[in-house]
Amino acid sequence: MTTPQAEDETIDAGEFGAWLLATLACLRGDGGAEVPCGDCVGCCVSSYFIPLRPGDHAARARVPPAALVDAPGQEAGHLMLGYGPTGECPMLDAGRCSIYADRPQTCRDYDCRIFAAAGIEAGGPERRVINQRVRAWRFSYRDDDARRAHAAVRAAAAFIRDRWQAFPGHCAPTAPTGIAVLALKAHAVFLDAATTSRPDTETARAIIRA
Ligand code: SF4
Repeated sequence: MTTPQAEDETIDAGEFGAWLLATLACLRGDGGAEVPCGDCVGCCVSSYFIPLRPGDHAARARVPPAALVDAPGQEAGHLMLGYGPTGECPMLDAGRCSIYADRPQTCRDYDCRIFAAAGIEAGGPERRVINQRVRAWRFSYRDDDARRAHAAVRAAAAFIRDRWQAFPGHCAPTAPTGIAVLALKAHAVFLDAATTSRPDTETARAIIRA
């Protein structure tokens, strides 16, 4: 089982500037995430639907049909791993992923440091285990540029979360993952000191363009 994490425990999240570059590359599809999960299986017990992409051949061969559900809001045939009544992935066995070597790409790429970077939690009570981990991550900084980049990511996340009405058609993401990912991609908008004096609608458009 997952080792319960002490509330005051801290975990090295790595150097922020290097992490940001690697994560942005991963979001572009140019590489996978390397997450120091340790024995944490927070993302496996947190009521996530896990998509099985067409390229997840090994995972598709290992997952029993009974564990699959049609993806909510998607056409039939887009398969996902569902989760049990307590939020556990059906492939979790005795606290460990039973198909770890063949796990889906989404599981390989999941990096809850995006929430720590953005200064937000991963969700409500169903994400309790991940939220503990998010609170424990501590980034280091190689220079002031890295500190400024982190401050910009946090400012972007706060803007997206709090000023959603400034976005055309109110199209800002509202789920934590969407907010964090957009904040990472658009953080450069908040590296510009002039952003704070611009109208919110202009800042929102700049975020969308980023
Ligand atoms: S497939 Fe494995 S790694 Fe992915 S959520 Fe399920 S138990 Fe966790």
